[in-house]
Order: sequence, then C-alpha cells, then structure tokens
Amino acid sequence: MPVKNFSLNRREFVAGTAALAAAAALPHPVFATSKVTLGDFEVMTFTDGHINLPAGLRAPNADEEKWKEVLERAGRKGDTYISPINVTLVKTPDELILIDFGSGPRFVPTTGKLEAALSDGGIDPGDVTKVILTHGHPDHLWGATNDFDELTFPEATYYVAEKEFAFWKDADAMKSLPEERQFFAVGAKARFESIEERIQFVKEDDEVVSGIRVFDTHGHTQGHISVELKQGSESIVVLGDALTNPVLSFEFPEWHAGTDHLPEVGAATRKKLLDQLFTSKAKIIGYHLPPPGIGMVVKKGSGYAYEAIA
Ligand SMILES: [Zn+2]
Repeated sequence: MPVKNFSLNRREFVAGTAALAAAAALPHPVFATSKVTLGDFEVMTFTDGHINLPAGLRAPNADEEKWKEVLERAGRKGDTYISPINVTLVKTPDELILIDFGSGPRFVPTTGKLEAALSDGGIDPGDVTKVILTHGHPDHLWGATNDFDELTFPEATYYVAEKEFAFWKDADAMKSLPEERQFFAVGAKARFESIEERIQFVKEDDEVVSGIRVFDTHGHTQGHISVELKQGSESIVVLGDALTNPVLSFEFPEWHAGTDHLPEVGAATRKKLLDQLFTSKAKIIGYHLPPPGIGMVVKKGSGYAYEAIA
C-alpha cells in the first residue's frame, strides 16, 4: 500500500475517533457565546433555542402582494417562520445581570436551552444578581422556574414593569388573548406567583444599576420595557420584542405584528424606536433577531433596515 494512501486513511481514522469521543463526552452541541464590550460592561448573548411560528401569522393591515414578496426575505421556510431566541447577559464590574429568563423546560421542545448555553459559557445561574424582564410572554418568563418549580436564578432580584405584572395577574388577562394563546396567561400567572417575593417594580427611566436604564416600549404587551446600557457616549439597546423580525419590523414597522397585544401601539412604538436608534447610532440586541441578535438600524430608501454587526 502506498504511504500516501495509508496516511490518508490513518488521518481519517484518527479524525473519526476524535469526533466520536467528543460526541460521547457532550450531552449537546456546545452553544456559542457572543460578546461585545461597552466600557466597563461585557455584553453577551446566549441562545435559548428557537420557536417555529406559523408563517401565516400575518399583518392584517399589510398590502397582500407586498406581504407575500417580503415573507421569504423575512425568514419563511415553507409554512414555518423560525424565530430564534437570544438572551442577553451583562457583566458589570460587580454584577451579572440577565435580561429575560428564557423559556424554561415547559414551553415548546425547541426552546429551553438557556441553562445549557450559560453553562457552556461558564456562567452559573446562582451567580446571576439581577434579572430584568421585558414582558410576560412564555419565551421570556417561563424560564424563571425549572423542572422542579424551583427558581432558576435563586439569588437574583427580578425587575418588572408594574403594568406588565398587573396585566398578567388580572383574572381577565386570559380573555383578552386569542384562544390558541390563552395558555400564556395561565403560565404567566404561575411563574409570577413563584417569583413574586423577589420582584421589584420599575417604571419609565429607572436605573437598575448605574448605566442600565429601562424605558417604556409597550404595545407588544401592555407593560413591555426595553433596556438601555450606556457607558460614556456609547450605548446598546436591548429591545426585547419591540422589534422582532429583521425585515418586517424594520422596513414595515406600520404593519401590525401578529403577536402584539396592542397592534396600533406596537406599530407606533416601532416607528419611534427606529427613529431614535438610527439617530443615536446605538447598537441593538433583539431577542428574536438572527443569532447572536446584535446589530444596528441603518437607512434603506425612505425607511430603515437591520444590519447585523456580530
Ligand atoms: Zn418573544
């Protein structure tokens, strides 16, 4: 056998064995951590998996033909639109601050990966000092408790807008949601009861710590907030679900979003945010933008577009 062939076979064999050993040692593929620096802050995003949404979850006020044309660009795959989930963690010199809890083990099977992703990034949930909740939808709140209904981040204080908390605690919350999403209310109520003692309410412009401020972006839900991270003249805005789709939310903010509780307000909030974000040149992190979800708002024609930067 020529030496050349032998070495090729051996290399293949070694590579195959190493891959098998690596696969056996790992319970899941290693999740990547993305990191950007902002002054003293390290800002990271971790995946929580993704949600398969029906592609037809459409804007009732959109132009039908235009809607079809942009659907593919907006991420449609057959009948499904894959909505990724990026959870932000901010490491300040003294604290570890998470923005949203992820979905936890009981939402849908493609979600609930946050704990594994944090572990791959060397983060112990017990070290998280604060969690800021943008709103009470399952992919943002249900990760507050684990399989055993214990707190996933047991040492942290949780920051929630009082309006958001009040909406989900109200017995009528369920009635205001479409039938297929009424279980959101049941799940939210249970999670809020579990975490209630550790909740601190926040309102417009409150600083959770110096350089981390919440502001009102309601419309997606009644008390939705976004978070501005600011160091010197630079800032990163963690959007939550104020802008969710890299095409629709940026180029057609006036189109109603299928998952907004208050569609008119959601559209107005998107327009105002886009103007602000373009003018301030802030970086943005979107919970459902393509992973790792970090980018900027740029001009496109008479409107705006999303530009990924990480
Ligand atoms: Zn969401």
